[in-house]
Amino acid sequence: MKVLVTGGAGYIGSHTCVALIEAGHQPIALDNLCNSNPESLRRVAVITGCEVPFIQGDVCDEAVLEQVFAAHSDIGCVIHFAGLKAVGESVAKPLDYYRNNLLSTMSLVRVMGRHGVKKIIFSSSATVYAADNEMPLREDSKTGSCTNPYGWSKYMCEQILRDVAKADSAWSVVLLRYFNPVGAHPSGLMGEHPNGIPSNLMPFISQTAVGKREKLSIFGNDYDTPDGTGVRDYIHVVDLARGHVAAVDHLLRHSGEAVFNLGTGRGCSVLELVHAFEEANGVTVPYTIAPRRSGDLATCYADPTKSHTELGWQAQYDRVDMCRDTWNWQRKNPNGYDE
Ligand code: NAD
Ligand code: UDP
Repeated sequence: MKVLVTGGAGYIGSHTCVALIEAGHQPIALDNLCNSNPESLRRVAVITGCEVPFIQGDVCDEAVLEQVFAAHSDIGCVIHFAGLKAVGESVAKPLDYYRNNLLSTMSLVRVMGRHGVKKIIFSSSATVYAADNEMPLREDSKTGSCTNPYGWSKYMCEQILRDVAKADSAWSVVLLRYFNPVGAHPSGLMGEHPNGIPSNLMPFISQTAVGKREKLSIFGNDYDTPDGTGVRDYIHVVDLARGHVAAVDHLLRHSGEAVFNLGTGRGCSVLELVHAFEEANGVTVPYTIAPRRSGDLATCYADPTKSHTELGWQAQYDRVDMCRDTWNWQRKNPNGYDE
């Protein structure tokens, strides 16, 4: 099936293009390259032997979307990754985040509806869950009370898509709540290259190991967790990509709205991840203990039972795989896709 992948040149989008091709689908990527490099899609072609048709354009622009759907009248469903995703930046530039993330979703759904394509998978996040839930987080755990505009934009997009599915029973909407995506394609050809100083843990660890950063600051070691550092559910990006293929199958069999966690169900502390990285790769990651980062939770991990039962999906890669593949990508591409 032809699948329109918005944000297809990005980190998760490009890995999902590989997984879609491997499952026999035909992805088409639409991306304005505001946070990516089209080289990622050339690497998809190297890995799979298939070129991904690419349109450079803004998903907020209905005229662009009209052209895409007119040129590809046989698109069967859309995976909507396109969005801005930096939590800190969203606090500084809330209007940019609300405009881009909400307008892209609304424009996309309007144009899809006009073309009779009523199947969409949306990239949501564990950040939509409220802070006072019991762990692990289930899809019916409480949502809302987000701590930043990025989180609210995901929460609002979920609500918009839910309302669209309620208003017209022909729609099928899958909301995927990702936990902490990390890792890279095992070939070392594709991975994540954050702009500037990474704010996420895994890219900071790998850039420290390669010598680009002097040392990692561990934000707090006095949390109520086994070793005092924050616990998260890290998930390999290839597992996440496979989760989207499972969601495409679900879309074809169901209408209405469904939400799924994509996580491993296993919590991992900052110190555990640092030590796993050192052991898996035979490197040292210098670190220092720093104050807690504002807005951080002690612990956040998924209950992935529903994804297993209803999507037939389960994470396969473990912590060692995540660390090895991140390092393989980092060493082979110290400047990401830039060279
Ligand atoms: P990414 O920045 O690598 O990919 C997003 C892509 O969307 C980029 O290629 C960017 O150029 C493109 N884009 C942004 N706005 C656009 C627009 N208006 N029109 C066209 N293209 C646009 O990020 P990612 O990590 O691959 O994340 C993909 C999606 O998953 C995002 O929606 C993100 O919020 C969500 N998500 C990511 C994480 C994570 O930790 N990486 C966690 C939860 C959810
Ligand atoms: N973290 C850290 N140092 C860093 C970046 C992150 O100690 O430089 C910690 C952070 O406090 C949290 C965990 O690593 O406990 C994961 O943070 P990340 O920003 O990667 O993801 P989040 O779950 O916050 O979205």
